[in-house]
Amino acid sequence: MAESLLITNGTVVTWEPDAELIEKGAVYTEGGQIAEVGKAAELEGRYPGAERIDARGQLIMPGNICAHTHFYGAFARGMAIPGPAPKDFPQILERLWWPLDQALDEEAVRSSALVCLVDAIKHGTTTLIDHHASPNALEGSLDVIADAVDQAGLRAALCYEVTDRYGPESSKASIEENVRFLKAARSRPNVAATFGLHASLTLDEETLAACADAARGLETGFHIHVAEHEADEYDSLNKSGRRVIDRLQAHGILGERTIVAHCVHIDLREAEILRDTRTWVTHQPRSNMNNGVGVADVEGLLRLGVPVCLGNDGFSNNMWAEWKTAYLLHKVWHRDPRRANGMDIVQMAIHNNAALAGMFFPEASPGMLVPGAAADLILVDYHPTTPLSAGNLPWHILFGFEASMVTTTICAGRVLMRDRELLTLDEAAITARSREIVPAVWERYNGIAAQTL
Ligand SMILES: [Zn+2]
Repeated sequence: MAESLLITNGTVVTWEPDAELIEKGAVYTEGGQIAEVGKAAELEGRYPGAERIDARGQLIMPGNICAHTHFYGAFARGMAIPGPAPKDFPQILERLWWPLDQALDEEAVRSSALVCLVDAIKHGTTTLIDHHASPNALEGSLDVIADAVDQAGLRAALCYEVTDRYGPESSKASIEENVRFLKAARSRPNVAATFGLHASLTLDEETLAACADAARGLETGFHIHVAEHEADEYDSLNKSGRRVIDRLQAHGILGERTIVAHCVHIDLREAEILRDTRTWVTHQPRSNMNNGVGVADVEGLLRLGVPVCLGNDGFSNNMWAEWKTAYLLHKVWHRDPRRANGMDIVQMAIHNNAALAGMFFPEASPGMLVPGAAADLILVDYHPTTPLSAGNLPWHILFGFEASMVTTTICAGRVLMRDRELLTLDEAAITARSREIVPAVWERYNGIAAQTL
């Protein structure tokens, strides 16, 4: 826990309830929380003894939030998938992701998490919601990731994905891992837990019921992929006579603590159920484009009142790249440049992501730059060449910001990167270790993937 810190001489960007810029502003933090926000001259006079960070005219902003990611995805970078190129998303799962998660050992779980946490600090992403799978290094895997998160000094909500694809013993063990970690996370201030489920298409009726039973009394929701590809909907109809969202609702899986990722192929009734149950949806446009699964109707969902958040699904933790992709994708999809307004992107990436992170960390209120919220802050070395105002800020971010402009990252009042120097993680050592262990992971992957051809 950091003592007091005065970040001064910057332009403070707050978003709650509306965007506001404080020129020549400052933020004073104490005990890991934002204590005061205001003009630099006033705060400097009031807190003369505080350790200072001179923002040198940079923007002082709340840290970014990623609503859905997979740390272990880092090990897929540059990996060759054996055989002919997968023709659709179900084949991508069978040939890429499922053999890869089976190839992970404990060291690979730790290493891939650290690689992503370095990336998150460098890109100013201070809260991440991860979805993990490592069936051959299952028990305790969430502790391994949580330790890495604590070492980094970031904030994360973790879960283990329950699936039936590795047999009943493995699904039972993964339910136990969620239950165990939901209890263990209570003593970790910067790590939260939820109950992970892979997707309707790899979960049978008994397992879904067992998960709902196991979660009862633990004050948790679930984190599950929904209708990423139409195969999920057809599988659910075949298995249960219900569409995916109806099926999950029947099992008591939905609600205001549950995250459903993607929702590319849900229908209108499913959207209404999501709204009525206050279930969170996450949108991952880079992943959807890469997998060729289609485009979620996020504008329609937002209009309906569904809280849609922005995640990255294992892509880089540069959330502004996800902003830009969302902004562009819906325009080309509809052939209409008026679609996906900058304020829609802000609604997802700022307001809804902050509300979702606040569900996991109610006392921290991550993503809010207001007194009483956690001091999760970044400095952005952006000096606009055109007028910058609260009203046009989203378009400065969309057209002017680059990930490399993040120079300083602070989480819970602790400086994790200062002037681009990482203070909690040794990037060179983490990178070297990752390159050392990945060849063996890829070799195991190749052996498993070859059997899917
Ligand atoms: Zn995902």
